[in-house]
Amino acid sequence: MSIKIGLAGNPNCGKTTMFNELTGSSQYVGNWPGVTVEKKGGKLKGNKDVEIVDLPGIYSLSPYTLEEVVTRDFMINDKPDAIINIVDASNIERNLYLTTQILELGIPTVIALNMMDIVKKNGDKIDVDKLSKLLGCPVVETSAIKGNGIKAAVEKAIEVANIKKKVDFKLSVCDECKEVIEGIEKIIIKSIPHKGMETRWLAIKFFEGDQNVIKKLKISSTILAEIKVLTKKCESKLDDDSESIITGERYAFIGDIVSSTVKKSKASGRGNETTSDKIDKIVTNRFLALPIFAIIMWGIYYIAVSSLGAIATDWTNDILFGEIVSGNVSSWLEIAGVAGWLQGLIIDGVIGGVGAVLGFVPQIMILFFLLAIIEDCGYMARVAFVMDRIFRKFGLSGKAFIPMIISSGCGVPGIMATRTMENDRDRKMTIMLTTFIPCSAKIPIIALFGGAIFGGASWVAPSVYFLSIIMIIICGIILKKTKLFAGEPSPFVMELPQYHIPSFKGVLIHMWERGKAFIIKAGTIIFVACGVIWFLQSFNWSLDMVDAGESILASIGNIIAPIFAPLGFGNWQSAVATVTGLVAKENVVATFGILFGIVDATEQDPALIQNVAGMFTTVSAFSFIAFNMLCAPCFAAIGAIKREMGSWKWTWITIGFQTCTAYMVALLINQIGSAIFYDGSVIGAVSSVLIVVGIVSLVLTSSKRSVQNKVGADLGV
Ligand code: GDP
Ligand code: MG
Repeated sequence: MSIKIGLAGNPNCGKTTMFNELTGSSQYVGNWPGVTVEKKGGKLKGNKDVEIVDLPGIYSLSPYTLEEVVTRDFMINDKPDAIINIVDASNIERNLYLTTQILELGIPTVIALNMMDIVKKNGDKIDVDKLSKLLGCPVVETSAIKGNGIKAAVEKAIEVANIKKKVDFKLSVCDECKEVIEGIEKIIIKSIPHKGMETRWLAIKFFEGDQNVIKKLKISSTILAEIKVLTKKCESKLDDDSESIITGERYAFIGDIVSSTVKKSKASGRGNETTSDKIDKIVTNRFLALPIFAIIMWGIYYIAVSSLGAIATDWTNDILFGEIVSGNVSSWLEIAGVAGWLQGLIIDGVIGGVGAVLGFVPQIMILFFLLAIIEDCGYMARVAFVMDRIFRKFGLSGKAFIPMIISSGCGVPGIMATRTMENDRDRKMTIMLTTFIPCSAKIPIIALFGGAIFGGASWVAPSVYFLSIIMIIICGIILKKTKLFAGEPSPFVMELPQYHIPSFKGVLIHMWERGKAFIIKAGTIIFVACGVIWFLQSFNWSLDMVDAGESILASIGNIIAPIFAPLGFGNWQSAVATVTGLVAKENVVATFGILFGIVDATEQDPALIQNVAGMFTTVSAFSFIAFNMLCAPCFAAIGAIKREMGSWKWTWITIGFQTCTAYMVALLINQIGSAIFYDGSVIGAVSSVLIVVGIVSLVLTSSKRSVQNKVGADLGV
């Protein structure tokens, strides 16, 4: 017989860590809410009959956001055989709020008191036996990160599932509440077909006026009215609305439980600062927070892209792919007597293109390794908190920053992470902005140009990162001023986890999870794209093999190139590279790799870098990078935008918005930069500024006017 066990708990309590330990998988563990936005199933290690389901973290069973609905639907509709309710024991009071609701569902439940290592380190004590008695279900101490107690928890869960052991729990409430809840329960038992759901739980939900539950049961209006009367009576007696009454009762109940089972050591009592608090005083300080963030990100990009990473990448590009791989392969092909065109396809197309992309793997892995460290130790959660302070000033919630952190790996999960946002307007806006952040596939563009044009200058990569954040803020401000997105930001509640030394395994999993997609893509989609690009750059329209300059690719490129001329890269090669980047951003570098070859056979110097260097000035190179960072993302991300936006209209709005933004930013960079550094035309600079200002104010005023028109129409004017 197969058993299904759900892992439920607050965000950040260690569900995914436990899931990974139990199933041997490597799902994304992050210490901020919203990392697990879909449920994920896996088989228990060593027992194929047991399925474990990792659920998105929730604070309550009254869902407001999409991922909360996922969890609740699972518990109520999928009917798991057992639930392991994971409770962050270092934060027990808040975590038990959800626990009281889960226990009411009547599903066999085991409570895993997780993070016991922190509790013990703080010197606190929890009376587990008493807690278990008071809550009416087994309680097991665990430390998911160390793997302690996990086995015991899951064995207990299998046991309660097998005997279908009901939870023996009843929220104790005041007399007035008791009366009304029992009254409603009687009505339910008598006249509502409740499909095997716990009647007391339903009674509380009806009392709270939970529309989800009420709608699902299709109750007649007379019965609803009857319940309403009871509810109103209690509300007026206690002078509060029913939802708040129940919330109050839950916290009072939890307060009693905690005071009788948890003994805080003196050191961890109130008034005493933990080390985390001390660090936070500095890193979230009003004035220091941003400079510290800037220095840390600068350091990370410096190590990953400019110094250590660049050395590793130079080696893979020049020696590994340039000399060893392409040298050997070409002599093998020679010996085997392979046809000339096929040699070209393999050496120039596949090795040139895919090799150019794979060459950047070391930089990307180092970057993700370092990002994983600052995420895992708890620092990134602080950044989200600090960003909330800044975003809020512009009417954007700090929640928007979390998808952006995830997008620095890949935009697709980043776009999906917007599901944690309860406000649809803010969610749409975040989807439109989140792919501005450089993802793994865009790093090679920065690294290639950073090396080729800027001589490996350390400011290039971090400045691109900050340009993207600044553009998110500027675009956020502008979008918020239009009627589509106006409105107050939704509140952002986030638990700041204690700082801890990241686990090496966790960091490696993180790095690999983000980096592997890059490698897989290089072997699949980029591989195919390289073949196509090679073909197009080797043949003309009558299918004769020609120089690249007369090829199909050049003729197409020459048609589009003028569009990019004002941005400083009006040559056909850059135009083609930008367009192939729509399929996947790695293609930008792959295209240059094919067009120029990684290494010129006759020279020692890497040809790719030299040739690219000859085509750009520093200003136009920066403009090229900026355009490719900000313009429409790759097909995969566009697909994710379509899924999350739910409409083609919004998808096109997003793509159009991003590409226009990219164009304007690149235009300003090139025009102003050329005027300053290369005595370019001042008129060009001034007019480009005027054009951009004009477009932005046009967007703003037309949005205002249409609001006025709408108000006018509503008033009958
Ligand atoms: P989820 O949001 O519930 O899925 O939580 P995660 O599994 O993503 O974990 C959140 C954070 O808590 C991560 O940084 C974990 O490394 C950390 N963590 C998980 N379990 C424990 C534990 O038992 N002890 C400590 N100290 N940290 C833990
Ligand atoms: Mg999770």
